[in-house]
Amino acid sequence: MSIDEYISVVGKGPVEELKILADKLSGKVIKTINSTQMGGGVAEILNRIVPLLNELGVLTKWEVIGGSADFFSVTKKIHNALHGAPVTITDEELDLFLQNNKINMEEMDLNGDIVFIHDPQPVALIEKKEELGNKWVWRCHIDTHTPDWRLWRFLKKYIEMYDASVFSSPSFAHPLSIKKFLITPSIDPLSLKNQELSKETIDSVLGKFDIKRNKPIITQISRFDRLKDPVGVIEAYNLVKKSVDCQLILAGGTAVDDPESAEVLSEVRERTEGDPDIHVLLLETPADIEVNALQRASTIILQKSLREGFGLTVSEAMWKGKPIIASAVGGITFQITHDYNGLLTRTIEGTAYAIKELLCNPGYAKRLGRNARESAKQNLLVTRHIRDYLLLFLSLYHPGDIVYM
Ligand code: UDP
Repeated sequence: MSIDEYISVVGKGPVEELKILADKLSGKVIKTINSTQMGGGVAEILNRIVPLLNELGVLTKWEVIGGSADFFSVTKKIHNALHGAPVTITDEELDLFLQNNKINMEEMDLNGDIVFIHDPQPVALIEKKEELGNKWVWRCHIDTHTPDWRLWRFLKKYIEMYDASVFSSPSFAHPLSIKKFLITPSIDPLSLKNQELSKETIDSVLGKFDIKRNKPIITQISRFDRLKDPVGVIEAYNLVKKSVDCQLILAGGTAVDDPESAEVLSEVRERTEGDPDIHVLLLETPADIEVNALQRASTIILQKSLREGFGLTVSEAMWKGKPIIASAVGGITFQITHDYNGLLTRTIEGTAYAIKELLCNPGYAKRLGRNARESAKQNLLVTRHIRDYLLLFLSLYHPGDIVYM
């Protein structure tokens, strides 16, 4: 993908700006590290941003930490506890977490001018910084608004060893002795997941899953994760179904670093048995065209998360001009302005009411979708995200200067 192709989407100015900023970082090597190559929003973003940084001439290498199933069970607990879910993490589990980070520290090449670590799984790799003397940034993708404080204090010791931290919302960033940057995640308008699709392609994906267009389609696409509240989605759909006919798609895949999904999927299947209008789809990874087509074929997109750092699925639906109904949680409240570019809800009943409202008022739904597309274009695209990262990287070499983002 050439960076110049983005001119057709965002115009010449933003692309020129990226080239100028990238030029200032010429010769620097960025090492970016997370816990999975595929599945979930972080991998989704890195898969787009890493090639584009390289295309801009900023040499960026991406590596993934290794770990046993036990390690990923602990990191999933850490993930949930940071989101504020009631989880108990024992000292032994934290030891296992640190042990695994130590093993990765020995096995990985952590050289590079800037080491860019994503989320808590690899956070303790920072212990290598003193020996290497390079710059380190920690990027948090999680809604840490009300974390488990014991766990936050445990992680804080490591976070404060970094040169800078990045959060998706001001309310996620608790007091830290290091610099904090606010950068919202993005989607790539030219990726297979977001590019325009022909009607034939959309229809063939619907055909593959045996979905007909004879009723309005309500869709949530998310990993099968309790924090995405698939059961709440089913309950909202059941309430709608009492008065308005429609069908529901619950589509999702799994991620290497998410051991809970199989259990959640089987619960979802159990609860939806016997309703031919509910389509529970286990998607392969990657399933970019499938996700794209399902979003485009939908009448309404739902994102009924209980917690959300930032919903990429929300941005994807907005870019496609879809009316979206999402929970008023975490980063979603930055993406959606209620009654302007989508609807925000807080309960199952509220979600059901909003679905009915949009199904019965197609003109209103269309207006929300149109505004959503414009908001996504202004704020949620990868070009803006890369600009923010380049400015962040540059700021590490100019600690006293003000950097405008
Ligand atoms: N996604 C996907 N296949 C699936 C489920 C999700 O490709 O079966 C994608 C989805 O389109 C989005 C990302 O994974 O790009 C999920 O990001 P989000 O921020 O919504 O949630 P996360 O999984 O990071 O919590």
